[in-house]
Amino acid sequence: MASELEPEVQAIDRSLLECSAEETAGKWLQATDLTREVYQHLAHYVPKIYCRGPNPFPQKEDMLAQHVLLGPMEWYLCGEDPAFGFPKLEQANKPSHLCGRVFKVGEPTYSCRDCAVDPTCVLCMECFLGSIHRDHRYRMTTSGGGGFCDCGDTEAWKEGPYCQKHELNTSEIEEEEDPLVHLSEDVIARTYNIFAIMFRYAVEILTWEKESELPADLEIVEKSDTYYCMLFNDEVHTYEQVIYTLQKAVNCTQKEAIGFATTVDRDGRRSVRYGDFQYCEQAKSVIVRNTSRQTKPLKVQVMHSSIVAHQNFGLKLLSWLGNVIGYSDGLRRILCQVGLQEGPDGENSSLVDRLMLNDSKLWKGARSVYHQLFMSSLLMDLKYKKLFAIRFAKNYERLQSDYVTDDHDREFSIADLSVQIFTVPSLARMLITEENLMTIIIKTFMDHLRHRDAQGRFQFERYTALQAFKFRRVQSLIFDLKYVLISKPTEWSDDLRQKFLEGFDAFLELLKCMQGMDPITRQVGQHIEMEPEWEAAFTLQMKLTHVISMMQDWCALDEKVLIEAYKKCLAVLMQCHGGFTDGEQPITLSICGHSVETIRYCVSQEKVSIHLPVSRLLAGLHVLLSKSEVAYKFPELLPLSELSPPMLIEHPLRCLVLCAQVHAGMWRRNGFSLVNQIYYYHNVKCRREMFDKDIVMLQTGVSMMDPNHFLMIMLSRFELYQIFSTPDYGKRFSSEITHKDVVQQNNTLIEEMLYLIIMIVGERFSPGVGQVNATDEIKREIIHQLSIKPMAHSELVKSLPEDENKETGMESVIEAVAHFKKPGLTGRGMYELKPECAKEFNLYFYHFSRAEQSKAEEAQRKLKRQNREDTALPPPVLPPFCPLFASLVNILQSDVMLCIMRTVLQWAVEHNGYAWSESMLQRVLHLIGMALQEEKQHLDNVTEEHVVTFTFTQKISKPGEAPNNSPSILAMLETLQNAPYLDVHKDMIRWILKTFNAIKKIRESSSTSPVAETEGTIMEESSRDKDKAERKRKAEIARLRREKIMAQMSEMQRHFIDENKELFQQTLELDASTSAVLDNSPMVSNMALTALGPAQTQVPEQRQFVTCILCQEEQEVKVESKAMVLAAFVQRSTVLSKNRSKFIQDPEKYDPLFMHPDLSCGTHTGSCGHIMHAHCWQRYFDSVQAKEQRRQQRLRLHTSYDVENGEFLCPLCECLSNTVIPLLLPPRNIFNRLNISDQPKLTQWIRTISQQIKALQVLRKEESTPNTASSKNLENMDELQFPEGFRPDFHPKNPYSESIKEMLTTFGTATYKVGLKVHPNEEDPRVPIMCWGSCAYTIQSIERILSDEDKPLFGPLPCRLDDCLRSLTRFAAAHWTVASLSVVQGHFCKLFASLVPDDNHGDLPCILDIDMFHLLVGLVLAFPALQCQDFSGISLGTGDLHIFHLVTMAHIVQILLTSCTEENGMDQENPAGEEELAVLALYKTLHQCTGSALKEIPSGWHLWRNVRNGIMPFLKCCALFFHYLNGVPSPPELQVSGTSHFEHLCNYLSLPNNLICLFQENNEITKLLIESWCHNIEVKRYLEGERDAISYPRESNKLIDLPEDYSSLINQASNFSCPKSGGDKSRAPTLCLVCGTLLCSQSYCCQTELEGEDVGACTAHTYSCGSGVGIFLRVRECQVLFLAGKTKGCFYSPPYLDDYGETDQGLRRGNPLHLCKERFKKIQKLWHQHSITEEIGHAQEANQTLVGIDWQHL
Ligand SMILES: [Zn+2]
Ligand SMILES: [Zn+2]
Ligand SMILES: [Zn+2]
Ligand SMILES: [Zn+2]
Ligand SMILES: [Zn+2]
Ligand SMILES: [Zn+2]
Ligand SMILES: [Zn+2]
Repeated sequence: MASELEPEVQAIDRSLLECSAEETAGKWLQATDLTREVYQHLAHYVPKIYCRGPNPFPQKEDMLAQHVLLGPMEWYLCGEDPAFGFPKLEQANKPSHLCGRVFKVGEPTYSCRDCAVDPTCVLCMECFLGSIHRDHRYRMTTSGGGGFCDCGDTEAWKEGPYCQKHELNTSEIEEEEDPLVHLSEDVIARTYNIFAIMFRYAVEILTWEKESELPADLEIVEKSDTYYCMLFNDEVHTYEQVIYTLQKAVNCTQKEAIGFATTVDRDGRRSVRYGDFQYCEQAKSVIVRNTSRQTKPLKVQVMHSSIVAHQNFGLKLLSWLGNVIGYSDGLRRILCQVGLQEGPDGENSSLVDRLMLNDSKLWKGARSVYHQLFMSSLLMDLKYKKLFAIRFAKNYERLQSDYVTDDHDREFSIADLSVQIFTVPSLARMLITEENLMTIIIKTFMDHLRHRDAQGRFQFERYTALQAFKFRRVQSLIFDLKYVLISKPTEWSDDLRQKFLEGFDAFLELLKCMQGMDPITRQVGQHIEMEPEWEAAFTLQMKLTHVISMMQDWCALDEKVLIEAYKKCLAVLMQCHGGFTDGEQPITLSICGHSVETIRYCVSQEKVSIHLPVSRLLAGLHVLLSKSEVAYKFPELLPLSELSPPMLIEHPLRCLVLCAQVHAGMWRRNGFSLVNQIYYYHNVKCRREMFDKDIVMLQTGVSMMDPNHFLMIMLSRFELYQIFSTPDYGKRFSSEITHKDVVQQNNTLIEEMLYLIIMIVGERFSPGVGQVNATDEIKREIIHQLSIKPMAHSELVKSLPEDENKETGMESVIEAVAHFKKPGLTGRGMYELKPECAKEFNLYFYHFSRAEQSKAEEAQRKLKRQNREDTALPPPVLPPFCPLFASLVNILQSDVMLCIMRTVLQWAVEHNGYAWSESMLQRVLHLIGMALQEEKQHLDNVTEEHVVTFTFTQKISKPGEAPNNSPSILAMLETLQNAPYLDVHKDMIRWILKTFNAIKKIRESSSTSPVAETEGTIMEESSRDKDKAERKRKAEIARLRREKIMAQMSEMQRHFIDENKELFQQTLELDASTSAVLDNSPMVSNMALTALGPAQTQVPEQRQFVTCILCQEEQEVKVESKAMVLAAFVQRSTVLSKNRSKFIQDPEKYDPLFMHPDLSCGTHTGSCGHIMHAHCWQRYFDSVQAKEQRRQQRLRLHTSYDVENGEFLCPLCECLSNTVIPLLLPPRNIFNRLNISDQPKLTQWIRTISQQIKALQVLRKEESTPNTASSKNLENMDELQFPEGFRPDFHPKNPYSESIKEMLTTFGTATYKVGLKVHPNEEDPRVPIMCWGSCAYTIQSIERILSDEDKPLFGPLPCRLDDCLRSLTRFAAAHWTVASLSVVQGHFCKLFASLVPDDNHGDLPCILDIDMFHLLVGLVLAFPALQCQDFSGISLGTGDLHIFHLVTMAHIVQILLTSCTEENGMDQENPAGEEELAVLALYKTLHQCTGSALKEIPSGWHLWRNVRNGIMPFLKCCALFFHYLNGVPSPPELQVSGTSHFEHLCNYLSLPNNLICLFQENNEITKLLIESWCHNIEVKRYLEGERDAISYPRESNKLIDLPEDYSSLINQASNFSCPKSGGDKSRAPTLCLVCGTLLCSQSYCCQTELEGEDVGACTAHTYSCGSGVGIFLRVRECQVLFLAGKTKGCFYSPPYLDDYGETDQGLRRGNPLHLCKERFKKIQKLWHQHSITEEIGHAQEANQTLVGIDWQHL
């Protein structure tokens, strides 16, 4: 680095290094004016060290600063060498028992749900693991940065405040000991001096605003003309805008611009140009001009280099202070004193104040440095934390205002420290009482929401963008209020009471501004033109919800406070609605002889608002009066007499009527905004302080007034009064054919009104309303949710309201009401309702949405049918009301209620027209049921002295009064029981009558007055019951029969789907039970089966018929017929790779002939197994191509497959494919000439082949040399003599049809193209090699999967796999017929030469560097090209066998050379067997041949075991290969799993069981071969340890090991920093599951160029690690990412589950996550099976939005 600097700079460096820290410090100690001395030092040196050029050199600057600037301060402070001084300080220190670790972005944090005082109390990972909370219910989140560990803070934890580490420090703590006692006077004095100067300097320079002038005492004389053009961060401009502008303004490359933009975003500023003033000014104006068009311009300043230098050092200094105080609590205390000491300007002039008040003017980097210093100093010192909190509260208003106008995110604002201060209960309490904090927060909040309407209510209607932005920011104040209230006081002082109530007043003012805001009027005639703004008001309501609840919680804790609050709230409500009758006309209503005065008001005509927070707060407080019994204890203190029930109920009732009318379709023209408001009003996020409280308010009102009056007012507000007050209204309706719409509207309104009555009477599960506790309430919620359907934990949580601690209280009760069902490999764990809880089901549960209600009804009826019960869903038995609400039940037996019931029943009996509905009836029946339940309970609980006043049964037995003289309700029910049109409700009516009779019995038994009038009906009923029972029995039989048939049908359907799942989903499940392998013909079952060689078992030819999936025609597979093909997908693969750093560098030059045993880049072929005619496929493919071209022209859409690359989806199963494989018969049978019994032995054969090769080579040479020399060559030819029967001029005829030949070429070329990633070229000599390679590689990968899963080699394979392997092998064997004969011969010669050396091939790989199976496949499949010219009578089979034996021998030697010989003396004493002796002898030979470089001889047993284990995978691959090549059935022993089957494999492969015999039988040639193999330089180097080699057996690759606990991954990722931007934290750390590399994904900093395109780190990584395919875990999101190529990708569910069997993609819930091994195995299996790309294809087909994602940027 230094060499690049100008010489002048270097000279400065030298002079700087000569500066002595000790001397400087010495000078300072003598100084009279220390400040001046130090400032002079800084003025002189700082500009010499910092900012010497266009680019910063942080390491060098830091080094020099430490030496010249900080060093002296440390010497001065310690009074000696700081290397000794600081450790001494550290030793004397009593370390703090607080952890205080400041969190990095993305670091995991833990909160205990049992013990944390509030959810903001968190632990760092280390403390958490050492705490008691790890065994509690905890929640895990990732930190957004800022904030620190609360370990050791006794106020933060109800239990276990210390972890093991920090507990150690607590034993000796004396309360509030002054930490200064551990320091000497001298040190204290000096520290004080130096801290005061340095802290002041830092504050002064960081808040300095002039651009070219320094503070006077830092100014120097000779000032250079060097400036920086400084670019600042804002949150307005995008990355792209900044990058684009910079390229223009400062002429930099895109890369540099990205670098600048990244730094600006991270640090908040970055100089983008260095030079003279003019030069910088010019860049500034370009930037400003370019960015000012739409928005405010980017902030740019031209600053003198010395100012920037001092500011950089200022930052350094603050971090230094942070470090130094870490040595001692005493130093920390001194720094706090210095910081909070009032400055010369009085109030707000301390250094801490100055920093805070300048916060919004500072750039991001400076802010975070000083915030961190505050956290490690002021917030870590108990005494000063309090003083700081007071400063913070005093400045609160100003800080918040600064924040609101600033545009940086909250975490970069000092205002964000509120969470650290306000959540400390003692501080919060102190600030409330001493600084009136509650009031300040609320007032500040109100000040920022100035926009009001004429009535003083908030008005968000015409908000500008800026106001909306401000509104968003100002909401954070609500959080502050929440923090202050979150821990509730245990003791109340008078001061606290007074200040809380003062705050409560302010809060009421706030609510008052919300009461009635956003009023709406029904739109009639035409639709509204513009959707009104509604979200702002609801946002406010939603954010305040918890605060409102907490206010009530506080009030509940103190009776005096509750009474005062109640009074205040009532007063404010009266102010809001004091004159609610103003201008509205009073009217009188009367029904059944009752009458009431009210006003004329129609929701459908006048203004109505959904926002009534004051009423609702009062409702909440009223319930508390009841719950805490204050209402009975101090009735005289309460303004109960002032309460006007009609006033209380008026507005909530209007709001509920509005909902009913919206539902009835009366507000359609008001648009979606209203629908949305109604939705949120009922939604789980809001309902607690909206809908629920409105119901409570109505309950309050009803309990205080005559229920008849209430019902009449309600009828009037529902605009139904006319209908029920006028007799025969219904009749008149049906006779006059009025508007059907109006009637239906009224029907809905009646239904809604009945529902509302049900809720008013039935909803008694809030403690205080009914005699229940909080547990009953939550239980009931859960029961009703689970009545709809079984639910996962997260679904259930979402449907329950959360409190301010984000708790639903669910865990404590769930066990009591539900069973948990564990998840399988997919899906989630589910909770199911316990059957005994079903009786608590209430069809009209008030939190059901309409959809939920009907689902629940259906589910519950179904359940009852299954249990053979009748399907009535009667109302459940309810808990009694609290005394304050007790009178409410009378509404059920009130005259008006009975009149309503009677009217509706009457309509149902008359059943004329459409003026009634079944739901209406159903609700009335429910209400009757509720009344009966109520009466029964009253009777059950009756005591001697009380008379039961609830006499519903008596009332419904009486007939109606004059003038209409209708029959009694009971009589009407009896009539309805037989009405054919009410079949569904029969069971319910029956239940009602039954209950009625039961009640009557109780009454009869307890009272003397029998109820005579109903006797007749009972008689009647019993006879009716009988034939009803008969009918029911028959119906039951019919139902059972029907159900059985249905079950059968659905079973059939399921089967159908299951079967086709195989087809459609194509999961490559090896254990799937598919059809048995075709060729297990019984005729050969008794013979020993041999797969190859002269003794190969002869298989009678089998004819094969297949059906084309496209045209459905059947065809036989024959040599000369039209080609049939399988859809196939060829891909490069590194699944088996043992060396991920290796990949094909230059594909054009790459020679794939020899596969390295590290299998670093293979070509895999897979197929879905679907067969087509070649011509059908071609037609299909052409049409896909044409369609795709049209589509791309029309709309630039992507597809899940890349047509230009030859990709298509299988027309049947939509499986991604990119080529087709032709179906062939066993090709050897075509070429195998008659077997001649006298076949050469291996030695002889090798000799013959060598001669043939030599002859060929001479021929080739002759062909390639010019004609002039031909005579000479002919001579050579004579000399050579052709081996007997060898006719190199013979060219065999290709037996295949044109169509098959074409397909052979097509597939061959595809394999070549994909495997090498080159342009297709069917002439390339490497085409045949690629075909053989793909065959070998695919077999090897299948063999690995089978072994890993302990599956038998020839067990039942899924058809598609079997078909694929067979076709692939036969194709590879036939491919030579379409390739150039001489090319294939050339390959054979070269391959052969690697084992049997000849003169023409010098530089072949040594046997350590050849994968023997690939070699075998190549040799065997190339051999026919040579053999076809040999007429000497050597059969193809003989050749195969000898090639196989030869390669096997080479492999054995390979294994022996590379087997690691860990000594194992145990078995040496065993008598050595034949194999052991043989292998020992062979080893000795090797030992000699390698010049004794091979290790000393281990035991024979050991060697033999190595050989057997090492060679097994090879033998298995060979068995598969020859099986598919020759079609010989597999031996039955190999079709079942069990022991290794070594002998069976040998027999099948025509090998001696003692493999070493191969060497002994052919010992004439063995020695020569072994010598040639071992005399290789590479072998020597390996044996001498100079290089590595693969040893056998190769282990299967696995995905990396993942930790059991997900948080350790998060922790690992939080320590990971972007490799490109110097220590910066990565935003999207992503883990490669294949190799374990962590990557910085989805970020500009780590984009690289790949094939001319910018790609993200993940895509780039897939190219080196997985040949384009990648499996990643996005750590922050807890999401698996699959990538394939640049355009394909999908997300996949992660292998981590919480205790409820659910994943947490996005880490939103924060439940602890643990590794699910089965799911991880499933991902690994997808990888092993090469199914990642296929999985992506299916995911993209299923979800088109995945196609649009720019996967390459991840
Ligand atoms: Zn900690
Ligand atoms: Zn700790
Ligand atoms: Zn705990
Ligand atoms: Zn066809
Ligand atoms: Zn298919
Ligand atoms: Zn990797
Ligand atoms: Zn990066």
